[in-house]
Amino acid sequence: MSEIKKTEFKTESKKLLDMMINSIYTHKEIFLRELISNASDAIDKMYFRSLTDDQVSLNRSDFEIRIGVDKDRRQIVISDNGCGMTRDELENNLGTIAKSGSFEFKNESKENSSKPEDIDIIGQFGVGFYSAFMVSDDIQVVSRAFGDDKAYLWESTGVDGYTVTPCVKDSHGTVIMLHIKEDTEDENYSEFLEEYRIRSLVKKYSDYIRYPIRMKVTKSRRKEGTPEDKPEYESYQEDETLNSMIPIWKKAQSEVTDEEYASFYKEKYYDYEDPIKVITQRTEGMTNYDALLFIPSHAPFNYYSREFEKGLQLYSSGVMIMEKCKDLLPDYFSFVTGLVDSQDLSLNISREMLQHDRQLKRIAQAIEKKIAGELSKMLKNERDKYETFYKAFGTQLKYGVYSDYGMHKEVLQDLLMFRSSFGDSPVTLEEYTGRMKEGQEKIYFAAGDTEEQIALIPQVEAVTEKGYEVLYLTEDIDEFALQMLMRYKEHEFLNVCRDGLDLATQEEKDKLKKENEDNSEMLTFMKDSIGDSVKAVRFTNTLKDHPVAISSEGNLSVGMEKTLNRMPGAEDNKVRADLVMEINIDHPIAAKLKELFENDKDRLASYSKILNANARLISGLSLSNASEIAGLVCDLML
Ligand code: ADP
Repeated sequence: MSEIKKTEFKTESKKLLDMMINSIYTHKEIFLRELISNASDAIDKMYFRSLTDDQVSLNRSDFEIRIGVDKDRRQIVISDNGCGMTRDELENNLGTIAKSGSFEFKNESKENSSKPEDIDIIGQFGVGFYSAFMVSDDIQVVSRAFGDDKAYLWESTGVDGYTVTPCVKDSHGTVIMLHIKEDTEDENYSEFLEEYRIRSLVKKYSDYIRYPIRMKVTKSRRKEGTPEDKPEYESYQEDETLNSMIPIWKKAQSEVTDEEYASFYKEKYYDYEDPIKVITQRTEGMTNYDALLFIPSHAPFNYYSREFEKGLQLYSSGVMIMEKCKDLLPDYFSFVTGLVDSQDLSLNISREMLQHDRQLKRIAQAIEKKIAGELSKMLKNERDKYETFYKAFGTQLKYGVYSDYGMHKEVLQDLLMFRSSFGDSPVTLEEYTGRMKEGQEKIYFAAGDTEEQIALIPQVEAVTEKGYEVLYLTEDIDEFALQMLMRYKEHEFLNVCRDGLDLATQEEKDKLKKENEDNSEMLTFMKDSIGDSVKAVRFTNTLKDHPVAISSEGNLSVGMEKTLNRMPGAEDNKVRADLVMEINIDHPIAAKLKELFENDKDRLASYSKILNANARLISGLSLSNASEIAGLVCDLML
């Protein structure tokens, strides 16, 4: 074969290959699982065709995966009668990595992690075909695509490349021949040539594969004609099916271990961590389906990007008909992965028809209910787990509250959590309202960039001082979500930095009203000095020790103004909250201002601007006239 030119592997394939060949990963045994799962996928494709294409006459019972072991030649052979590969497919599928996305991720995490973890990642991801290089130093793949009369041999001994040559194979399918590495001081590769080892690996990793995995096994029996009291034995070979062929989602949850679910999840959905929750659902009646769903413990690396595609795998009576059926999941539960298997769906159903399928809609509704139920159970019974989940996906739930004009708020409101002035652990709305102070009617919240910054907002200090709990909103979506909710039970939400915070007694209110009326000329003068950035200047009694603060009137808060103006396309169409500068009526500055209004209006004008600038900075707002303010402050110092 020396005259045949070798083709180099693509760069990133080379890297992965190199990792495989030199892997010191302890679970090298996963190579068998990977090859069997490829064989099963290839048969799936073939079986699907046989069901949908009249030209193909194959029965389900015709399909099988075979494993053969030849100890003397140190060879394992895995063959299937699936769809096979054309020459191009051999080149493209085995010469390049299919899942380059996950490989990029692997590389990324490699840079910021220590060695043992990388190795774990190798094992946990479905690294596919290349994992065979962990145990093998020469791999031959003979394949013939269905409908093609030619077969090809792909061969590689490692990083220096591969060859593809024509060969003969009498029917469609793929045969993979692994030459098993010689044992070394540290590694025993020969064990993979033992029948019992192969048998237990199939049981452990591939039991649920829905086609028989057969192997010729050696058995022994009494030689015919030898007496029972003096038996002689002979060994013979017999085909044995090694797997039970029951898909994991067809088994009762009690029959499957957590470990089995986790390993199924990691292999199938390309995660390197266990799921935080496994959800199973089996229903019979109006709709018949089995669902096996997983909630990941962390957001996939592309979760908050456009690339991310939600969806569940869809099976029709055990045959996969769609890889990602997005109609099965609402956007706010897009983090859920897994599969649905239903006998009520037709195999030939097209994507367009599926969208309008009544059964599918029913299944989707039931699944949504189930997920919501499981999440609220987790919140009640496994608080720590829920908080981990919420860190990863809470934002998505809040978008869910806001989206579709609040249509889903009933489902979602009790799953929300917020940080609050009461301490480190987040609080649900039910908990908040459950511990409200006597006489408190509204749910208080304040928004800002960080919890620390919010805690220092004058109005927040004043409200917390009185013993009320304030929710701290730090994400852009938070305030929009609360606005959509409007109220929780009978309690309205109130931004403490907005007009309408009403904590005063009647006497205090009357006093305030009078002050504002008596000094209206002065307040107007101050507003005019500041300019357009405020709508009014007013006295207030809601600020504890602070001289001034910014509050807002109307539907738009300061935080929402910031968020909306940051959105793409907002440059030409900026929105503005109606801001009010509030002066603390009980602060000495109030008397000072009144005095200046009588004696020194120029100075009052400067003071107004400086106070407004102070208030804006405390609220996390920027200044458009920073140098003017700096000049004014300097003048005062001279
Ligand atoms: P993955 O299976 O995750 O896509 P692999 O590296 O294991 O990644 O396989 C790459 C591709 O090679 C598969 O997607 C499939 O198209 C093809 N392939 C692998 N094994 C077989 C097989 N036994 N029969 C047909 N095609 C196969």
